[in-house]
Amino acid sequence: MKTIGTAEVIRGEKTKGYLQVGTDTDGSPFQVPVLIAAGENDGPTVWVQGGIHGDEYGGTASIIRFFQELDTSQLRGNFVALPVVNLPSFKARYRTSPVDGANLNRIFPGDPKGTYSQRLAHALLESVKENADYVLDLHSGGIGLHVDYFMICRYAETEASKKSMWLAERMGAEVIWRVEGESATSGVGTDHITKSGIPAVTIEVGGGNVSENHERLYKESIENAFKALDMLPGEAPVQKEYAVYKEGDFIFAGQGGLFVPACKVGSILNKGDLIGSIINLYGEVTEELRCSSDNAYLAATGHRYWPLHPGQLVAETYTA
Ligand SMILES: [Zn+2]
Repeated sequence: MKTIGTAEVIRGEKTKGYLQVGTDTDGSPFQVPVLIAAGENDGPTVWVQGGIHGDEYGGTASIIRFFQELDTSQLRGNFVALPVVNLPSFKARYRTSPVDGANLNRIFPGDPKGTYSQRLAHALLESVKENADYVLDLHSGGIGLHVDYFMICRYAETEASKKSMWLAERMGAEVIWRVEGESATSGVGTDHITKSGIPAVTIEVGGGNVSENHERLYKESIENAFKALDMLPGEAPVQKEYAVYKEGDFIFAGQGGLFVPACKVGSILNKGDLIGSIINLYGEVTEELRCSSDNAYLAATGHRYWPLHPGQLVAETYTA
């Protein structure tokens, strides 16, 4: 019997278990939930994970719902789902880990002898390499930001990278960030997964409260990937055109205060355009955040009046 953690893969059935990764301060085990829906017929294994960042629970909820709604008699291959991979971060409702301060999605491939997050990164990557044919990684803007709807994959001259792009083009979004270069996103899990030969696509939707629309887009993206891979009946949508971006610019608050956004996600901005400003508790503008390049796609921005610390991520723009 094949197992992933303690969850068994049983043809035509839905099973549950967990992947144990390390222990908490009281010695109790961290058990990462694993849900498996195995199809009646053989096919690829798609590993779908959420909650690498603990405050991005839209992916978590959508994975749970997709699992519940999936009909295994229609399915070819296996849906392996981890609704929350980063339990300490999820419990704290925070992007980084309260255990060691790490951003889990910047420390791959991890270290089996490192801190908790480093061990977790290592254990996840090893299990993915052992079990997955494809990986979908679900993200959002977290509690403080919201993002437009788009896909992310890694650009490289490899089969896994080309297949990632092929899949991203069939999941429903018209915007794809095809990441080139290492600077902004070193240590990202999907980069290491793609480098080990497994195609991987990140889905970005929403942030803050999980709207019905966010849930629909996450679930449709997964379903479309399954259709593209002939795991579910039906045609995956192919768009007439894609907006493909290469470079990402991460914008951080210089001052603490309340964020006042000046434009909506999905806007195309030029150099010098105002993204948003920060006001202090006297209502004075203490900082203006402006776009640094022309024809930039505003992928993420902070919620209105979201309280910021200096150094906190407040917006992202992408350029071709
Ligand atoms: Zn994220």
